[in-house]
Amino acid sequence: MEKSYKENKDFFNEVSTYDDKKNRIIVITSGKGGVGKTTATANIGMSIARLGYKVALIDADIGLRNLDLLLGLENRILYTAMDILEGQCRLDQALVRDKRWKNLSLLAISKNRQKYNVTQKNMQNLVNSLSSLGYQFILLDCPAGIDVGFINAICSADEAIIVTTPEITAIRDGDRVAGLLEANGIYNVKLLVNRIRPDMIKNNDMMSVSDVQEMLGIPLLGAIPEDNQVLIATNRGEPLVLKKKLTLSGIAFENAARRLIGKQDYFIDLNTPYKGMFQKLQEFFLGSN
Ligand code: ADP
Ligand code: MG
Repeated sequence: MEKSYKENKDFFNEVSTYDDKKNRIIVITSGKGGVGKTTATANIGMSIARLGYKVALIDADIGLRNLDLLLGLENRILYTAMDILEGQCRLDQALVRDKRWKNLSLLAISKNRQKYNVTQKNMQNLVNSLSSLGYQFILLDCPAGIDVGFINAICSADEAIIVTTPEITAIRDGDRVAGLLEANGIYNVKLLVNRIRPDMIKNNDMMSVSDVQEMLGIPLLGAIPEDNQVLIATNRGEPLVLKKKLTLSGIAFENAARRLIGKQDYFIDLNTPYKGMFQKLQEFFLGSN
């Protein structure tokens, strides 16, 4: 037993030679905190898993784990990547499988801010190890800010999703992050605009999705409306996309996930009146009767 932990630790610290780039390693980032990164990671990850792919979600937040709560897996996390690094457990022990979709796994990097001494190489090896386990999508939920946790998360990714709300502060931070991503060689970047309020856009009290997109100049992955169901889903530990009767935000997340995997190329129009659009969407997804 001791030995296998030791071997595992060595593997984690070694330079991995694994180079199968068929899978996609995507960092979900923002600059500004509280704009919806964790919500997006949980919902997009769950959607992709439901489409049949093997998905790993990495909670790269330091000391502030959240992704486990959104997925209702908070009681199942016994180990984090820090424990692997310290030789306390193996990777498979730290990987928590979702209760509902077994092809979805969650890995937390660290529970403890004081104990965080993960290096870029550690992160890269971790992601390589997950790749060699056959994970087709690895989504990294980035910590807020642009310090060590952020750098560690982006250095192991090939692509990025920048999440922003239609507020100037969030957009400015998103723009800064876009620059940092480019400086780190990540050119495949997509934009997710969250917490849209069509009523406010209509009254010119909120920037429209296309305004935000034009300001940032990043291709749009999706636009998610403001929706109380997001909070309800968080409290229940059940991502929106799992609801039997999808809400508009659930549909929007599912659309974003489909677009990410190249299965959809149209957008929900969040500028049309809410009711009419919601009905149209329901008809489209659930049949018109
Ligand atoms: P981050 O990971 O970027 O810090 P979170 O995903 O934790 O952001 O979201 C921050 C807060 O905003 C949470 O309370 C969440 O429930 C809420 N929230 C996120 N997206 C929406 C939305 N589309 N509608 C309503 N509330 C939202
Ligand atoms: Mg978060």
